[in-house]
Amino acid sequence: MRAEIIAVGTELLMGQVVNTNATFLSDQLTGLGYGVYYQTVVGDNVGRLRECLALASQRSELIVLTGGLGPTEDDLTRETLADFLGVDLEIDEVGLTKIERHFTLQKRVVTENNRKQALSLVGSHTLQNPTGLAVGDFYQQAGQPAYLLLPGPPSEMKPMFLEAAVPLLKEYLPQSTSLYSRVVRFFGIGESQLVTLLSNEITQQTNPTIAPYAAPNEVRLRLTVQASDEAQANQLLDTLEARIMAVAGNYFYGYGEDNSLVQETVKALREAHATVAVAESLTAGLVQSSLGKLSGVSEVFVGGFVTYSNEMKEQLLGVKAATLAEHGAVSRECAIEMASNTRRLTGADYALSLTGVAGPNEVEGQPVGTTWLALAKPDGSIMSEAFRFTRHREYIQHSAMMNALNMLRL
Ligand code: ATP
Ligand code: MG
Repeated sequence: MRAEIIAVGTELLMGQVVNTNATFLSDQLTGLGYGVYYQTVVGDNVGRLRECLALASQRSELIVLTGGLGPTEDDLTRETLADFLGVDLEIDEVGLTKIERHFTLQKRVVTENNRKQALSLVGSHTLQNPTGLAVGDFYQQAGQPAYLLLPGPPSEMKPMFLEAAVPLLKEYLPQSTSLYSRVVRFFGIGESQLVTLLSNEITQQTNPTIAPYAAPNEVRLRLTVQASDEAQANQLLDTLEARIMAVAGNYFYGYGEDNSLVQETVKALREAHATVAVAESLTAGLVQSSLGKLSGVSEVFVGGFVTYSNEMKEQLLGVKAATLAEHGAVSRECAIEMASNTRRLTGADYALSLTGVAGPNEVEGQPVGTTWLALAKPDGSIMSEAFRFTRHREYIQHSAMMNALNMLRL
């Protein structure tokens, strides 16, 4: 079922407030089984809001409006919707009692503007506001789109949506099928490269569908399927996933929206009962602080070094002066000594090292982005790899971290 979201508020258009309501609502509606096709932001203006409503009513079966239910002059969403639909407004007694009690307790008089917040479309389901005063509305007439009216402040919008709107939205959906989705994550491949590999799957897709989206240094695919139950959904998703893995399986690293390469790495180490130490130059502690953010990481992470200058590499890690003089700090030789000495000094099973040029200026004649990573392993062998990362300093450091973690996962 096609849904769209209209966020009302001049402050959103002017860039003063981030439209987090749209993100929340899109995520929730998708989870319920709605297809969200459009998000609109419009200012507090009757004419332009009417234009949005006219367009939305032509193309969507559910129109969710947020913002502009308050007591002030610029809050006109409810009135504009009522006028657009040709429906009257009436006072909701439960809502009004709450407003009156609120003002009486504060020893303040209730103004007409405050009462306005209890107005509800005639013939609608009024939605009570668990954390504020303005009531919401769910209005639906046979053969017409449904309109869901929610307040703007996220602290009011979310509880009203979850407590009062979700049951109505579930009822409004056709019962036969629901949407199920799965997020599959890839590392070491760009979005366009992955999309090219999967172009057959993507052009043929109907159910399930594949939606790629890129995050720094990784790509995710959201596979979404319409199915009668979870078992059927899993079967369809498994089949599609197997076809995806056949062409892109080398780059796969995990599932889920909240997962990350750091978590996957720690999980792999934990399963192997192995420990790791890290020596960082260009990332200056980024890898270690990312590891440190995960609870329970002490089982696998013993610690490490931040050796930014050549002196520190020599004094703390025992990198040979001759290595630095002959090959420079950004070299295979230096990375290898950093990793093997770190392993020896800490007694960890694995030791990672990162040395490179984060920019903006080149170092020792090496261009920005040049990076050497090394991994000292329990059997005494050492893996090393060179990269030339691009973009800005922060991105180069992030790329170095992600690739180092990936080395550790293999
Ligand atoms: P109020 O009674 O507070 O006036 P309202 O329903 O009239 O509520 P708005 O006036 O549109 O809502 O917005 C009030 C505040 O809520 C905004 O200043 C902003 O901080 C927040 N807000 C509104 N819309 C959004 C949105 N789409 N995403 C995130 N925050 C929002
Ligand atoms: Mg307002």
